[in-house]
Amino acid sequence: MRKKIVAANWKMNLTLEEGKKLVEDILAGNPALDTHNEVVIAPPFIHITQTVAQLNNISHIHAGSQNCYSEASGAYTGEVSAPMLKDAGVRYVIIGHSERREYFKETDALLAKKTDQALANSLQVIFCCGEPLNIRDADTQNQHVADQLQASIFHLSAEQLKNVVIAYEPIWAIGTGRTATSVQAQDMHAHIRQTLAGKYSQAAADNVPILYGGSCKPSNAAELFACPDVDGGLIGGASLKADEFLGIIAAMKQH
Ligand code: PEP
Repeated sequence: MRKKIVAANWKMNLTLEEGKKLVEDILAGNPALDTHNEVVIAPPFIHITQTVAQLNNISHIHAGSQNCYSEASGAYTGEVSAPMLKDAGVRYVIIGHSERREYFKETDALLAKKTDQALANSLQVIFCCGEPLNIRDADTQNQHVADQLQASIFHLSAEQLKNVVIAYEPIWAIGTGRTATSVQAQDMHAHIRQTLAGKYSQAAADNVPILYGGSCKPSNAAELFACPDVDGGLIGGASLKADEFLGIIAAMKQH
């Protein structure tokens, strides 16, 4: 049985003090998880040591990072490597977020290298894919997402794929308040799973958690997570408020 995951992407938000308080408030809400339900908190890099310390000895809630570099070390001013993240106690790394693709011009080829770095350092990858509005309007989103997977993760072995989570994030739904309908989400998640099955095997595809991201909140999480191929969510704005994030975690546990 594949895991359900709710992952928080804080993006470039919160001071150290605010981040500390947010984790305290989430833990105070006693999310009570088990091996089938995990939570990931991905703060900005500067928070990571603090977040890892706060989550030490807390079962099934792990620290993540929002990015890593494509090389292990060297003269890459301003970057943070996968070995550093592993050493700091990080479990998951988000790769290929649409904001990284758009604002930092991250290409499919670079994302493939980042994925390799993360996996080589025993980090679990949350690989983001998703289409912009013009692609959705042209109804070519399935091909767009299949191309993203093909370009950045299809070089992995079936063994490596076991450490990959996919996050489907339609760009038109990120931070816009406009959520994909549960039918749109399920259709795309089923398509992603079928694409993985075509490349690997049905068994391998059935083991990959596929998260939905894009204006997910407590009021729509239950309906989205009830879809058979939606295995949780990658949460931006609503992960910055403990009560909202706890509400989304509760929705995951219902399904
Ligand atoms: C995200 O950026 O990963 C995201 C899903 O953001 P939001 O929940 O704010 O739409």
